[in-house]
Amino acid sequence: MEVVRDRSALRIARADLPGPVGFVPTLGAIHAGHESLLRRARDENASVVASLFVNPLQFRPGEDFERYPRDEPGDLERFAAAGADVVFAPDVSAVYPSGFTTSVDVGPLGAVLEGSVRPGHFRGVATVVTILFGLVRPDRAYFGQKDGQQAIIVERLVRDLALFVEVVVCPTVREPDGLALSSRNVHLTPEERRAAPVLVRALSRVDEAYRSGERDAERLRQLIREEIASEPLASLEYASVADRETLQELQVVDRGALVSLAVRFPSTRLIDCLPLA
Ligand code: AMP
Repeated sequence: MEVVRDRSALRIARADLPGPVGFVPTLGAIHAGHESLLRRARDENASVVASLFVNPLQFRPGEDFERYPRDEPGDLERFAAAGADVVFAPDVSAVYPSGFTTSVDVGPLGAVLEGSVRPGHFRGVATVVTILFGLVRPDRAYFGQKDGQQAIIVERLVRDLALFVEVVVCPTVREPDGLALSSRNVHLTPEERRAAPVLVRALSRVDEAYRSGERDAERLRQLIREEIASEPLASLEYASVADRETLQELQVVDRGALVSLAVRFPSTRLIDCLPLA
């Protein structure tokens, strides 16, 4: 496995790779969720490129950029074990050269849900993904369902800007108690860790109600609010049942929907989601 640190080294390494090329972008702190993406990329492509970059553009001042978990040596071992051929692990100036001014605005999709709590987040995501796609020129790129809004935005970005990358969305990998794996789970105190499956319980209640025929989106959102309210350590930031294409809130679930929520614990915030139909 080759580790490259700047744009030109990546271009050179990429030129030698047999296609098709699968690409897995990450912020690092690699866990089994990331590994599932890498394995899928390995299965479906002749070559696998991964990136390891905590992108400052997608964090706002006051968010957790500084304390985002970082373990490059451990991450590189995991990338190698999962079969990556090339890992792009740049520093900030290698991704954003001096004088950098361009950004990619994803419009209304980036203003709702995570974007409403984290303004500018998806502009940062879309900008770095566009740069990375330009450098790696992957045939397929792998994203997790865990970050459902991000996957929808990347699909939109690829269509709108004609980037000719197949976006593959992979299922959320969970702990035995249902908690979605996330790099941020390490911040949870033992007490918060015990409380954290409240997110997946809320999603399961929506799923059960939907399967029993409930189509009133407000009632489904109310189930999430009730479940989160039952956990004293958790405070709900948003509960959403939205159109899977536009991410606008639904009144009636009469088409593909994304159920999502964000919950703040004293130590960190967690998100989870579930596609319906
Ligand atoms: P991150 O490093 O958190 O930006 O994640 C990199 C990629 O891994 C993103 O496409 C995430 O959606 C995906 N991912 C993160 N957690 C999980 C998980 N528990 N299951 C599946 N994919 C995940």
